[in-house]
Amino acid sequence: MCSIFGIIIKQKTETTPIESTLTALKMLEYRGYDSAGIASKGDKALQIWKTQNKDNKAEGVDMLRKQMTEMGVISFPTQIVIGHTRWATHGEISQKNAHPHSSQDGNFAIVHNGIIENYIELKEFLRSKGYYSVSDTDTEVLVNLIEYRWNETGRISFEVAVRQAVSEIEGAFAIAVITSSEDKMIVASRSGGLFVGITAYGFVIASDQSALVAHTKDCFEVESDCLVVLTPEKYEKRTIVSNQEVVPDIKKIELEISQIQKNGYEYFMQKEIFEQPKTLTDALRGRVRPFEGIIKLRGIEEHLRRIVQAKKITIIGCGTSWHAGLVGEYLFEQFTRIPVEVEYASEFVHRNPILGEKDIVIAISQSGETADTLEALALAKKSRATVIGLCNVVSSKIARMAGVGVYLHVGPEISVASTKAFTGQVAVLTAIALLVGRQKGTITESDYMRHITELAELPSVVEKYLPYFDIVAKEIAYEQLHSDHALYLGRGYNFPVALEGALKLKEISYIHAEGYPAAEMKHGPIALIDEKMPVIVIAPQGDETYKKIIGNIQEIRARSGRVIAIATEGDTEIVSLVEKVIYIPRASEHLIPIIAVVPLQLIAYHNAVMKGLNPDKPRHLAKSVTV
Ligand code: GLU
Repeated sequence: MCSIFGIIIKQKTETTPIESTLTALKMLEYRGYDSAGIASKGDKALQIWKTQNKDNKAEGVDMLRKQMTEMGVISFPTQIVIGHTRWATHGEISQKNAHPHSSQDGNFAIVHNGIIENYIELKEFLRSKGYYSVSDTDTEVLVNLIEYRWNETGRISFEVAVRQAVSEIEGAFAIAVITSSEDKMIVASRSGGLFVGITAYGFVIASDQSALVAHTKDCFEVESDCLVVLTPEKYEKRTIVSNQEVVPDIKKIELEISQIQKNGYEYFMQKEIFEQPKTLTDALRGRVRPFEGIIKLRGIEEHLRRIVQAKKITIIGCGTSWHAGLVGEYLFEQFTRIPVEVEYASEFVHRNPILGEKDIVIAISQSGETADTLEALALAKKSRATVIGLCNVVSSKIARMAGVGVYLHVGPEISVASTKAFTGQVAVLTAIALLVGRQKGTITESDYMRHITELAELPSVVEKYLPYFDIVAKEIAYEQLHSDHALYLGRGYNFPVALEGALKLKEISYIHAEGYPAAEMKHGPIALIDEKMPVIVIAPQGDETYKKIIGNIQEIRARSGRVIAIATEGDTEIVSLVEKVIYIPRASEHLIPIIAVVPLQLIAYHNAVMKGLNPDKPRHLAKSVTV
């Protein structure tokens, strides 16, 4: 959550440092967009410009650029700039709470990601020393503490002051600090997730590697408990507490600029939905090999025996990843006969879960940074269970902490509402379940062969239907979804799909939507049904639940509800029972979630666009929930 970008240069660059910072912040804005701001070092003093996001429009960086252009400061002569887009945790969304925050006497400016847990005590302490906060944030306390320690230690060293102050704070954080008195930028973290890029003209720092690519492909991470001092010429990485030098592990960023651009699409969400045939191919490439009759997942190969012998599998995740985990429950139980529990990461940690050596824990997180999942993972590791990470972002914290895992390989997901990560997660879970099932002998050889062939063909199936899904989903979004509420129903494998469809609509269209197992409708939600309530029912043929779901549709009709069905191509019977049908191809039931979720993603997308909302940046939300 929140984005940080900074630049420190030794020579003139093509674009000015402020221009580069604005461009990077625009790119990173999906991580948080309550406000945006920039601080830069001038000859004598620090300058700060900031703006608050208005009307949930998520256009803070554009407003900031406009404001700075009008003031003529885009080419402000400076070598050092830090910038931030905020996802508020402490203090309302306002100009005064926007970052960067300056210290009381203006000697320092800071941008911060995270929470300073002991900020109240520190604020009290600083007040007793004559330091008063202007904002309501926890961040301002830290920058004042830096100034206080700097004064106290005789104003000798910026680095000493930062090190001292940072050692006194509790909580996870990533910060970048600049000062008016030295040509330096200091970045520090107690959570990781901050990167330094090395360029010919100096250094760039960002909370997401994607923002470095415009400048360089060489970068290193500021790992937890490390601090990096940057001058225009050099860097020095040290541990915060023991002040030991650390040699950075410089890596190449494996990202192309085209992957982080909209490439002709209006929104990232639209691009990411339409990318799914490719991202599914990438997630399965080289792994699911029907011609050789094998599934090869290097990341878990060595641990396969433990997985096969597992007593229980616990899947943990949040939001969309939790829904993918629910599909995983059906997959593992069907193909491996290993009992599965799916847990919200946030609940898991407070439940004293029963886990042991014979357990497998699968942690699912697109970003690999999700704070709750990270915490749950740490707990699982302590229990000596085998922990598997399912992340998209390579070398992310969860991936590293798990040690064992499978990457999704679906490319950067920028839209806040997750789409291609969900289908990638389910595809990878399917591959794992089939691999384990075969190894365990809980799936016949002929079923295994049939399933891997079908799985490998799935991307082209999605590709074929996408243009059609788009047209019908748009019609539904425009014609059927005028209510403030909607119900999504599905059974078996499609219950999690109903949850995911409802979540997408909630997140980006602000329609209150609920997902339910279809049969549960009678136990409560049926009371909500009237002629205004759209009910989206996932009703594919091919398993025993079909007849039951048709019964549910009849019950909704009997109460004047309006049904939109996702049905199997060729099912003409259902047409007379519903307002609108989206046909999906006939497929094995365990593969329906990956297909059926696509029109649901598109319904939510078109509904948001129709309402003039920005689907990439829904209000109050942010990508990568790191707090
Ligand atoms: N806790 C800080 C604030 O509320 C930082 C939030 C963020 O990570 O954006 O301003």
